Amino acid sequence: MTNDTRNQLVELSQNLGRPENDYVILGEGNTSAKIDDRTFWVKASGTHLGSITAAGFVQVYFEPVLEMLNGPDLSDSQIKAALAAAKVDPAAPGHPSVETAFHAACLQLPDVNFVGHTHPTTVNMLTCSVAFETAVQGRLFPDEIVICGIAPLLIPYADPGLPLAREIQRRLLEYVDTYGERPKVALMQNHGLAVLAPTARQVENITAMAVKTARILRGTFDFGGPHFMSAENVARIYTRPDEHYRQNVIGRGQKND
Ligand SMILES: [Zn+2]
Repeated sequence: MTNDTRNQLVELSQNLGRPENDYVILGEGNTSAKIDDRTFWVKASGTHLGSITAAGFVQVYFEPVLEMLNGPDLSDSQIKAALAAAKVDPAAPGHPSVETAFHAACLQLPDVNFVGHTHPTTVNMLTCSVAFETAVQGRLFPDEIVICGIAPLLIPYADPGLPLAREIQRRLLEYVDTYGERPKVALMQNHGLAVLAPTARQVENITAMAVKTARILRGTFDFGGPHFMSAENVARIYTRPDEHYRQNVIGRGQKND
């Protein structure tokens, strides 16, 4: 089971890292997968998604990482030490990515088993622009809604590492409160894209659709700007999930408080 999850994570990471996708270059981006309630795989620092192998992932415990998220501010060296201490096998090679805490926050949500974080050029044209927020106020086409969800989660710029992870955790819960379901896509201002899904394949598909959406959005500005679908038409495509999801997440939050 553990190895199967890791194999899927390796394949996902290699696919996200394909140069023709233009999602990442060099050491950009990171991926993770839930193994069980206690542990998850996360990309090790200094590895490249496109050429990563099973050895490029580190198994870490949720608990100490979530404690960092909810605890006091830590210095860079304290964070590094805490992440090293969160490894299931202290002797295993590799140091957990600096973004491990944000992966832990996402993987805590029900039915999120894989997370893919990339810096696609087209998505970052959007997240690095003055139109970020206003340009993503509406939906553009039905498949965007079906694959990417009712709305992206928008994350204002935060220092990568613990501050960013805390911002993401806070906004994830706000999103669940607003929409009654978790986001599939997070757009991080001046940074990139994060995709949350039950399966590795879905992370790939959602990433591809989020990138296509950004490309179309960019193109609409050649023709006077985006024409968003009406609320009524969006509602026809989007089926609201049941309230259980929200209760699940909120219940979970209380338990961890
Ligand atoms: Zn990043």
